[in-house]
Amino acid sequence: MLLQALKDSQIMDNEIKKLMIPHEKVAHVQSNNPLDHALLVLIKSGYTAIPVLDTDYKVQGQISKAQILDSILGIERIEMERLHDYKVDEVMSNKVPRMNQNETFGKALMLSINHPFVCIEDDEQSFIGIMTRRSILALIHRHLGK
Ligand code: AMP
Repeated sequence: MLLQALKDSQIMDNEIKKLMIPHEKVAHVQSNNPLDHALLVLIKSGYTAIPVLDTDYKVQGQISKAQILDSILGIERIEMERLHDYKVDEVMSNKVPRMNQNETFGKALMLSINHPFVCIEDDEQSFIGIMTRRSILALIHRHLGK
C-alpha cells in the first residue's frame, strides 16, 4: 500500500539535485587533516559523522566521533595527546554511500535504510552535496500527508 502510494505520488521522479544539501553547506574534512582538526569540526558542527574529501573534492570516506575516540582509547584512559599523531585517512571508514546526481530518488531511499546520509557526485565523481535520511523522510511525509 505504501509502495503504491509512493509510486502514485510520483515521488520517485524527484530530482536528487533539488533535494540535496549543497557542498558549501556540508561540514567536511580532508583526508590529510590531523585528527584533532576533524574532532573540532565534528564537535562544532554537532554531527556524528561527516564526509572526508581529498584536495580535488573527491569523496574518500567518512569519519565519526566514535572512530576518533576509539583510535585514541588507551588501556586506562582516552589519550587526547595522541590526536595530533594521526591523520584522518588512518582512522576514517572508506565505506561511504554515494550516488550520481542523475540517479533516482529510489536509490537514495534504498541507501538511506542503512546510512544517515548519502554523498552525491557529479559526472566527474566530484562531491556536490549530501542527501540526508531526514530530507528523504520529510519528502515522503509531505507527499503521503496530502
Ligand atoms: P539528519 O538526517 O539531518 O539528522 O542528518 C543525518 C546525518 O547526515 C548527520 O548525522 C550527519 O552525519 C550528516 N549531515 C547532515 N547535515 C550535514 C551537514 N550540513 N554537514 C555535514 N554532515 C551533515
